[in-house]
Amino acid sequence: MITAGKAFGWTRGLRFRLALSYVLFFAVLLVLLGILFRQVLSGTFQSQMESVLDEEWGAAKGYLRTGPEGPDWVFDEKDPDESFTVRRVQRVYMLADTQGHRLQNSEIYASLGVDPPAEIRAILQSGQPAIRVRKDPSGVPYMIRSGLWVDHDGHKYYLAIGRALDYNDTVIRNFTRNYFALIPMVIVLSGLLGWFLAGRALEPVNSVAEAAQRITHSNLDVQIPARNAGDELDRMIEAFNHMMTRLNHSFEQIRQFSTDVSHELRTPLTVVRGQLEVAMFTAQTVEQYREAMADALEGVERLSNIVRALLMLSQAESGQLVLQKQEMDLSGLVRDLVDQHQIPAEAEGVQLSADLPGGCMLTGDRIQIERLVSNLLGNAIKYTPAGGQVKVSLVPRFDHVKLIVEDTGEGISLEHLPHIFDRFYRVPSADPDKGLGLGLSFVAWIAKAHGGAVTVESKLKEGTRFSVLLPVGRWSMPSPEIPAVPVPERVH
Ligand code: ADP
Repeated sequence: MITAGKAFGWTRGLRFRLALSYVLFFAVLLVLLGILFRQVLSGTFQSQMESVLDEEWGAAKGYLRTGPEGPDWVFDEKDPDESFTVRRVQRVYMLADTQGHRLQNSEIYASLGVDPPAEIRAILQSGQPAIRVRKDPSGVPYMIRSGLWVDHDGHKYYLAIGRALDYNDTVIRNFTRNYFALIPMVIVLSGLLGWFLAGRALEPVNSVAEAAQRITHSNLDVQIPARNAGDELDRMIEAFNHMMTRLNHSFEQIRQFSTDVSHELRTPLTVVRGQLEVAMFTAQTVEQYREAMADALEGVERLSNIVRALLMLSQAESGQLVLQKQEMDLSGLVRDLVDQHQIPAEAEGVQLSADLPGGCMLTGDRIQIERLVSNLLGNAIKYTPAGGQVKVSLVPRFDHVKLIVEDTGEGISLEHLPHIFDRFYRVPSADPDKGLGLGLSFVAWIAKAHGGAVTVESKLKEGTRFSVLLPVGRWSMPSPEIPAVPVPERVH
């Protein structure tokens, strides 16, 4: 089991960081929610109190009359409702004339500070009721509602009434205290939950890490079991498994390659060694020496061919071999190569013919395309017995050209056909001196590097046909869609 603490401080582990982010986010959210809720609460209380004061102010006006000694409260003392309402209004009130001279006020109002005449005049002039909050000497807040009161005879007065806000304040204070006192506990709980959830979410990551740790060069077939949850971690596991499959495949190829290389080098080396031993211990005449040395030289030549081919193949496969692309006349190039192969073909008793419509331009690496055609032509001649035929054709299509090399040679059995493009693969019955088994690997690589592909059809004892599709740069014939030559019949 890989634990965070093993490789690094646990505070740097993903689990800790995930849980911490969760806690921080939750804490900020809670604080913001608390502040918001407090604002909403105090806003609601404020508007509630304003409407209560509005109502009371309206009721108070109904109980005020102007008598000989100025305004006075008139109500039925026996009516409990009336006397309750008036007593309540009378607790916090103030009456003044339009000049701002105080006429009456309750004791509590005096403790809040009576309104100065200038303020009274300003409120009366505005024509709008005023709402203010003031505190008494002990700090209790009061909401004051004041405005113009006109009696039945049209006399104008300034009337202010108020109500203590201490209850609302207490509710808001209590809410704030309790809410914020709960936050640390909620944060601790959410931290534990975050830690647990992050641990569960990261479990598959740990399995990947464990699996990765188990991998050595000898068990590259390690696969992590799928969870089938369809989430991101499943995709990660899938990608990991794919990567391992590819790695395994590459390692397998490298292993196979080294085995093949050592095998390929061992045989000619043994031969060269044998020949040198002959020269050293048994040759007596100059002629015998020369013969042994010539054989050894041939072996060395074969060895250096292998090494050169291997080097190029490894450069090609590792991407170091960069194609030098240029526009070239493919028809001309194939024609030249066919001409060059006429003599070896004649030597083998093979009839070499070509069907090459002119004007096919290709953007490609001249040297590599020459190598591709030469390999196919060389093989066709090599594996066709005397009396047989080899034919090379170019078949133009709209956006590509097909190069066909077909022969009436020994053919390749179905069993071997899928492998002939593999490195060092030779049909077991093939004469070991005939080749290295690398030519077709090159052909396949060159076709692929040019954006094309190579296919093979073959029938034992009847013949083989290789077709190479190459994207063509430009076909300078009048109608590229129409094939310039009829497509040759298939071998099978
Ligand atoms: P080699 O250097 O041995 O020819 P290649 O990679 O060119 O290696 O070919 C691989 C094998 O495919 C050959 O050993 C041979 O058996 C078979 N092969 C290739 N071309 C032909 C052909 N035209 N006819 C029959 N067999 C062929």
